[in-house]
Amino acid sequence: MKSTHLPLKSLDDALAELLAFAVPLQGSVELGTFDADGRVLVQDLTSELHVPPQDNSSMDGYALRCIDVATAGSVLAVTQRIPAGAAGAPVEGGCAARIFTGAPIPPGADAVVMQEDCEALPPTSAAGLHEQVRVLALPQPGQWIRRAGEDVTRGAVVLHRGTRLTPAELGLAASIGLDRLAVARSPRVALFSTGDELVMPGDVAPGQMRPGAIYNSNRFFLRALLKRLGCEVSDYGIVPDQRDATVQALRAASSQHDLILTSGGVSVGEEDHIKPAVQALGELNLWQIAIKPGKPFAYGRVGSAHFIGLPGNPVSSYITFLLLVRPFLLKLQGVRVLEPKAVTLPAHFDWPRADKRREFLRVRRNAAGGLELFPNQSSGVLTSAVWGDGLVDNPPGQSIAHGDAVRFISFSELLA
Ligand code: AMP
Ligand code: MG
Repeated sequence: MKSTHLPLKSLDDALAELLAFAVPLQGSVELGTFDADGRVLVQDLTSELHVPPQDNSSMDGYALRCIDVATAGSVLAVTQRIPAGAAGAPVEGGCAARIFTGAPIPPGADAVVMQEDCEALPPTSAAGLHEQVRVLALPQPGQWIRRAGEDVTRGAVVLHRGTRLTPAELGLAASIGLDRLAVARSPRVALFSTGDELVMPGDVAPGQMRPGAIYNSNRFFLRALLKRLGCEVSDYGIVPDQRDATVQALRAASSQHDLILTSGGVSVGEEDHIKPAVQALGELNLWQIAIKPGKPFAYGRVGSAHFIGLPGNPVSSYITFLLLVRPFLLKLQGVRVLEPKAVTLPAHFDWPRADKRREFLRVRRNAAGGLELFPNQSSGVLTSAVWGDGLVDNPPGQSIAHGDAVRFISFSELLA
């Protein structure tokens, strides 16, 4: 663990170890379905009804009995009108019902003819003063009818526990009548930025920055990323680069939080106090990973809290969050599927100098279906993460030539 001469841990090994530590949190909360976006179900959701509840029309048109339309051009009496939300009466022989999309199919009808295939005729005394319809196309039984239960059948589990809710899941839960959902409680996360060079935007104007100062950017994306993952964030701001202050800050946060997340100060420099502070207070289980950017990553425990130390360089911090902290936080909430989907795409760039470490290059898709590389891959250049729409996951020691198939992970997989 201590020596930097030992081979670094691979990302896969580090992630497996990290996830083994991520025992799902006890406890759940009940939320209104409106407020449950991004949260994780703790129960299976079983439907008590069919969706849709009844057979209904998928077109504006006429509901009828096919048997009454022996030939195209047959004329039927229109004896009722069924808008969405109404219930129709049985359709008698020789009759049709004017019907609208979503309205229940009346008893007896076995097809809907769309209004574009019909001609409305004025009432005649022969039709008992009903309006009439001429059916111009021969109907097939069942046409334009959405069957009861074709979306969800009564008794079916529509969503399983461990599912992370997105807007589509919220709609599906509502469609089976659920206005409240039991979800995993939010991980409580204490967030610290380290670095004496850091200044908060708003505290000092750009023109007034002292030499050596930079704005704290990590704090902004880390807080936003945590919120997206359903966390309750206590943001403790900036901790000075001092051993005692670091120990005190970590100790104070450890009792009230599930996770302490820091950025910076986790390398091997004399001003990097995170690692010794964690070792003094608890234990360090993981330190340094063979990825680029993002080598200085640490996991440990401080009291009852998990501890994760992210690198200070903004791109390293961002990428290690997406690759490691995100699945960790999702697993704490009981999510089962944690692996982001990757696709294979052609590189429309050259990357001749392979690194010993597995690299995550900031790229974006072009209109030709290939990937272009952001020209500056430095771990300090956050513009690369904004310009890019994803990462090329490049194995250790692998150079890339234009046209090579590479593994691409979209940021949309990692930010949802
Ligand atoms: P460190 O890991 O503390 O050695 O920091 C590595 C690099 O990241 C240094 O150039 C820091 O100035 C920079 N850095 C650390 N924390 C932040 C932050 N919160 N926002 C922007 N840059 C940072
Ligand atoms: Mg630092």
